[in-house]
Amino acid sequence: MLETTIAGSLPKPFWLAETEKLWPEWRFQGEALEEAKRDAALVWLKEQESAGIDIVTDGEQFRQHFVHGFLEHIDGIDFAHKRRIGIRDNRYEANCPTVAGPIRRRRSVHGEEARFTRAHTRRKLKFTIPGPMTIVDTLADAYYNDRPRLAHAFARLINEEAKELEAIGVDVLQLDEPAFNAYPEETLEWGIAALERATDGLKIKTAVHICYGYGIKENIEWKRTLGREWRQYERFFPALAKSRIDQVSLECAGSRVPLPLLALLAGKDVMVGVIDVATDKIERPEEVCQTIKRALEFVPLARILPCTNCGMAPLARSTARAKLKALAAGAALARAELGGGVRRRRSETDPK
Ligand code: ZN
Repeated sequence: MLETTIAGSLPKPFWLAETEKLWPEWRFQGEALEEAKRDAALVWLKEQESAGIDIVTDGEQFRQHFVHGFLEHIDGIDFAHKRRIGIRDNRYEANCPTVAGPIRRRRSVHGEEARFTRAHTRRKLKFTIPGPMTIVDTLADAYYNDRPRLAHAFARLINEEAKELEAIGVDVLQLDEPAFNAYPEETLEWGIAALERATDGLKIKTAVHICYGYGIKENIEWKRTLGREWRQYERFFPALAKSRIDQVSLECAGSRVPLPLLALLAGKDVMVGVIDVATDKIERPEEVCQTIKRALEFVPLARILPCTNCGMAPLARSTARAKLKALAAGAALARAELGGGVRRRRSETDPK
């Protein structure tokens, strides 16, 4: 009950890459870099386990950025010709590689990383991949010139990769779709369909992470324009509830998402964001517990997975570590208060 997990990313240690940046430069090249990435993943696996996180990740230590990391091994993507374009409905600008021809997955993208991570933890392992709409929104397209068509082409590649990760022993495949709430109409028209195509035939748990973004300046300013209540999710949660995706995330810590929107996800597991990634302030376990209890008004206990609001990549390492501990401690407190453990033991011994 109340298995804890994180959205995915964790800060890169100072010896691996520049710190507190979204597109950090690596400190090394070649085999030295690969070894440093593996070391960093091991550090974060241990930190998550020590903190008491139940479903762990590699902290996305192997990729420079959560979208472009996936694209580095895809044919048809030209990294030599990056263009500065507006992304997330022009919320901010990023240097994006160009789609220059038909896209093809010429080899496994994350297989080696997943195999390495799987070999070093006995906890449930979650692996994150950007979702089709978010990939399309973080690219300059000079070939397909049709967002839904490009998204479906990516969905096919993601599906190939996902099946490989499933065979390696990944327990949860999470697709990151922060673009969904920037384009609620397109999400309904083709975003969710592409997500379903990407997860087609998988037997492991599938999750989608949607959010209002990292705690960076552009996102904080954007959130100020959204009014007293953030209701973007309301448009597409009902469609997501009907989809084949098992788990959906949303921010409940320090956000203005009205919690009754959780009720629109009936039948889904909900990764309830109880840790705000837009502040360095560390949540107290009592606050985390309180957020879990507020979500409990709209989601059954068995369906709640306490989680971070979003990735912690841009935070200081010490902040991320403290927030991992707060997340696990808060969930433990909620478990104790809600008494699930005690009740379960009693019912096991009670005569029927
Ligand atoms: Zn996020």
